[in-house]
Amino acid sequence: MTKPVHVDVLIVGAGLSGIGAAAHLQRGCPDKSFLILEARDAIGGTWDLFRYPGIRSDSDMYTLGYAFKPWTSAKAIADGPAIRDYICETAAERRIDRHIRFGHRVVAADWSSAEAAWRVEVETDSDVVHFTCHFLVMAAGYYDYDAGHRPRWSGEETFKGPIVHPQSWPESLDWRGKRVAVIGSGATAVTLVPELAREAARVTMVQRSPSYIVSRPSVDFIAEGLKRWLPSPAAYALTRWKNVLLTAFFYRLARRRPDRVAAKLIALAKSDIGERFDASDFTPGYKPWDQRLCLVPDGDLFTAIRDGNVSVATGSIAQLTPSGLQLESGEIVEADIIVAATGLKVVAVGKARISVDGEPADVSQAMVYKGMMLSDVPNMMFIFGYTNASWTLKADLSCEYLVRLLRRMDASGTRVAVARRDPEVEVIPFLDFTSGYVKRALPVLPKQGARRPWRLYQNYLLDLLTLRFGKIEDGTLSLS
Ligand SMILES: Cc1cc2nc3c(=O)[nH]c(=O)nc-3n(C[C@H](O)[C@H](O)[C@H](O)COP(=O)(O)OP(=O)(O)OC[C@H]3O[C@@H](n4cnc5c(N)ncnc54)[C@H](O)[C@@H]3O)c2cc1C
Repeated sequence: MTKPVHVDVLIVGAGLSGIGAAAHLQRGCPDKSFLILEARDAIGGTWDLFRYPGIRSDSDMYTLGYAFKPWTSAKAIADGPAIRDYICETAAERRIDRHIRFGHRVVAADWSSAEAAWRVEVETDSDVVHFTCHFLVMAAGYYDYDAGHRPRWSGEETFKGPIVHPQSWPESLDWRGKRVAVIGSGATAVTLVPELAREAARVTMVQRSPSYIVSRPSVDFIAEGLKRWLPSPAAYALTRWKNVLLTAFFYRLARRRPDRVAAKLIALAKSDIGERFDASDFTPGYKPWDQRLCLVPDGDLFTAIRDGNVSVATGSIAQLTPSGLQLESGEIVEADIIVAATGLKVVAVGKARISVDGEPADVSQAMVYKGMMLSDVPNMMFIFGYTNASWTLKADLSCEYLVRLLRRMDASGTRVAVARRDPEVEVIPFLDFTSGYVKRALPVLPKQGARRPWRLYQNYLLDLLTLRFGKIEDGTLSLS
């Protein structure tokens, strides 16, 4: 057997987080060797995988972009290919792309206490190969790349047209002049509906229950103004802070005054849609931010409904029929194509099996330390972004912390960092959203604890203080 390749830091995943982690390492720990193992053949993760029409962010790029690389395009709500280009550019200009091994799927990682190193098992097209590393960074995202969540409906074998899932959008699908039913009411459904409506004969958004949908300008005029007066990094940093503070302000407001904020959001939708507004399609049964808010740039969904060839049908699906579907209420939706925008299958740590000295570590039973390490699992970090703000805000902070931790270990001559679980700390679910995909995900995700440093506050400002300035050896994390 060939000797495993050894690096100081092994990063799993070449998406937004993996490339970001590499850039932070290069800057903060230039003496450390690193490699990125990527299961697919491309950089970009989410932003390369999803190819459905209109694919775009629903966060602004000033916070979804890296802190260290200004987002320069005028579009604050960017399309998928532009985000993929931004990630690829980051990798190319820093020569991170030379450190990526494509077609390498990490299937298992075992920590050896004797060697203070990870032994990582990797599948390629033709082989199983091994790597060893001192520190493992799981930047593998949070969902199953193999397939999305796709419920089965009674009678679906009778439906005459194609049923497609946005995660595996067929390039050849032609919806021009056709009737399309989009099942779902999340970010993907609200993106797809106005985009398909440009050429479809009719698009119906079929939702079991409504979501809060809010319109936001796709171009940030304050950012554009700042760009005219200030150098790009300064304009970017200011806009990033503006958006961090505004998002945090609206989130807190929504949590403190849910009824007022709900009424306001519904009133805004009503005024954008006009006469075709039907309250039963836009009045969710939960409070704002009990689930992620759906954002529509420049109100494109509302305009499409107002202009006539988009409608919304609310209710549970009773069955699919040869020519569409029928709701339990009896309402019939005619369709030639059905799009199942029914979400993702959430998985933890890229579906890799984790073990410590040969003993399997059950990720779903571990507690998360500072939202990025697993209790009793040494020298491993995973990157998981915010649910109420842009993913990258937390990813950047996690990577800054990684750099601080590695430097501290070098300075103190220690090799092992581990957060030991305190059995006294009350266990609570990892995420507190009520969305279907979060509820389905909870059994596979690790747990959080009811207090610091095991608690996830979903709060950038608090995390910034803790991760950028807090003590590394805080009484829970021990270095040895
Ligand atoms: C359609 C869609 C829209 C989104 N929009 C937003 C948004 O607007 N704002 C926001 O904050 N978040 C958004 N998200 C969340 C989004 O996933 C994150 O913003 C971000 O892209 C995550 O980056 P990542 O690198 O952590 O994960 P990913 O983008 O998922 O990349 C993970 C990479 O790891 C690789 N990988 C996984 N498992 C393994 C393994 N075992 N071995 C080797 N490689 C592996 C994958 O192939 C992939 O390349 C969106 C998600 C989706 C699906």
